[in-house]
Amino acid sequence: MKKANFLTMIKFLNLQKINAQYADELKQAAADVIDSGWYLLGEQMKQFENSLAGFIGVKNAIGAGNGLDALRLILKAYIEMGVMKEGDEVIVPANTYIATILAITDNRLKPVLVEPEIHTYNLDISLIEQHISDRTKAIMPVHLYGQVCWSEELEMIAKKYDLKIIEDNAQALGAYWKQTRTGALGDAAGLSFYPGKNLGALGDAGAVTTNDDELARVVRALGNYGSEKKYINEYQGLNSRMDEIQAAFLSIKLKYLDAENQRRNEIAQYYLENINHPDITLPQINSTLRIKNSKLSHVWHLFVIRHPERDRLHKYLTDKGIQTLIHYPVPPHKQNAYREWNDYSLPITEKIHREVLSLPISPVMTMPEIEIVTKVINEYSSGDCD
Ligand SMILES: *Cc1c(COP(=O)(O)O)cnc(C)c1O
Repeated sequence: MKKANFLTMIKFLNLQKINAQYADELKQAAADVIDSGWYLLGEQMKQFENSLAGFIGVKNAIGAGNGLDALRLILKAYIEMGVMKEGDEVIVPANTYIATILAITDNRLKPVLVEPEIHTYNLDISLIEQHISDRTKAIMPVHLYGQVCWSEELEMIAKKYDLKIIEDNAQALGAYWKQTRTGALGDAAGLSFYPGKNLGALGDAGAVTTNDDELARVVRALGNYGSEKKYINEYQGLNSRMDEIQAAFLSIKLKYLDAENQRRNEIAQYYLENINHPDITLPQINSTLRIKNSKLSHVWHLFVIRHPERDRLHKYLTDKGIQTLIHYPVPPHKQNAYREWNDYSLPITEKIHREVLSLPISPVMTMPEIEIVTKVINEYSSGDCD
């Protein structure tokens, strides 16, 4: 087979091109922060927190160092507030990115791994109730790959058992459930602005969003050494703050997020309508989330297909100059970090990790690139990699 030429390579995600769209504004913002002489916990972060809270429709947004810290800080705050304590259980989808689970174990809480639905890859809400014990204190739904994970049933379960719902909103900023954005659905939510996320910083950053003023106060203190007043420490905190320069970048990029998510949706719709290969399973939008207005319930952080022989398809696409990635190759319960869970049987999670492949999708992809990806996939025959 003819190898693709480097120059014609279709990248999975071209971050350089994404940020080049806003280069003039970003450079001016960087210069303003440099000249200000103030680099942490200043006006830029305050402004971004206000814009973010307004965008999501939530009372409080608190900047953090990264998405993992945002989730860690929420749980740590609930422990400080006496809502949960060491050994309490948190229900979490077994196929999430490991950060969700690290946030739980880091706080000496116990993750209870629940299988996802094979069609949406999101937590199977119908399985939650059978996993609830008298130690269960929270549910952490993950809006995986950009699709909202929420339902009335989820709200009812949380109410019935008095559980907190903490959204892992790292992949779905901008998505809606009915008229409400992710990040405003649960009791609290953690966000990541890792450069490759739909709203990406030029480095690490994260945030907590919540309508709970007391939680917001404790999270803010915990991220700054457990201190609200300099040199007065109320809690044993961490240092996890958003840099002024990242806040300035994020304020600029937030203005374009809805448009970028719409573009991702157009590309996803093209793939959904035009990729037709008998062995490939396309991603599904939860049908109960389809509503009459134009609000997106999926912001397509990733466009994830499945193929029973994923690794062969992956190699074929690489040889054809199309870069694809796997989200994720090894589930958390099979990692060395969690050796004690290695013999758990989670067949749906394991099937997903064996079969998924993420196609290039980003707001800066060109129409010819989208067409090539589609055509090359449709031409795939399993003999191609022998
Ligand atoms: C990216 C991500 C995180 C962690 O965010 P970081 O900013 O990289 O720490 C947490 N959960 C999910 C689902 C993510 O995709």
